[in-house]
Amino acid sequence: MPPRRATPQQPTRRIETRPTARSVDSVRVSSQYRALRQLGKPIEDGVAWPRPMCPFCWEGHVAFSEPSTDEDSASKRARANEYWEPEWISGRFISAGRCDNPECEQTVKSFGVYSVGETTRHEIPQYSAFYRVEYLSPALKLLALPEDVPGDVDDAIERAERVLFLDPGLAATALRASVERFLTHVGIPSERDNGGFMTLDARLKEWKRQTGHDRAAALFLAVKWIGNRGTHEVSDLSVDDVIDGAEFIGEAFHALFTSPGLDARAQSVNERKGHPHKVLPHRRTRSR
Ligand SMILES: [Zn+2]
Repeated sequence: MPPRRATPQQPTRRIETRPTARSVDSVRVSSQYRALRQLGKPIEDGVAWPRPMCPFCWEGHVAFSEPSTDEDSASKRARANEYWEPEWISGRFISAGRCDNPECEQTVKSFGVYSVGETTRHEIPQYSAFYRVEYLSPALKLLALPEDVPGDVDDAIERAERVLFLDPGLAATALRASVERFLTHVGIPSERDNGGFMTLDARLKEWKRQTGHDRAAALFLAVKWIGNRGTHEVSDLSVDDVIDGAEFIGEAFHALFTSPGLDARAQSVNERKGHPHKVLPHRRTRSR
């Protein structure tokens, strides 16, 4: 659908479609999503930890060490109970990660809780520790946004990254806020002319009406629904749900910022029928 012209009352900024200097690296991003989804679930002792992309260099992968554990005091006291079973054991762990890029070697610490349950690794019943990551410092990247995405959108996504494992509901709320910020940036107000509040649904509809970005609007709307579930006091959101939201945002921004630049380059190659750009001959500079 061709983009519609903005009404004079609503001066919506069209999105620049110049090629981005740094395109979204889809292979790295999809491997990152896989690693984050694995880190969002309990990791059994002895199972290889996922290797997420390094948040500093975005080149290397983070390799985590064997977790170091401390049993909780209540768990220790419970051992005196005559009915005590290993499944009552719980505590905290720390695991040190390091980027495998020799030019970076950034440390990433992982903190969380562990509990004991039946192994899923062997057929013979036996107990095993299960680690649940609550926090990573520095936080891992959820998205590699094109450079043209405004900075305050990135701030909201960074907030989501910081709480992703500890509070997925809060992370989803932050992702939703990144959509609100984007709409503000492109000139869709959050208030009506009469001062009334404009819902995110209404803002997305207005943006779609003005720009014709139907697909991106549908992706952003899905982020809104996930965010709404996250804002409930008792949220049932999982890390997987938040990563779904991040994937939708990534795809929307990719379509808005990266694809047009790529399309323009493809069109340019087609127009030249694959020939290289004409290089203008050097003109001799006249000395003054
Ligand atoms: Zn690194």
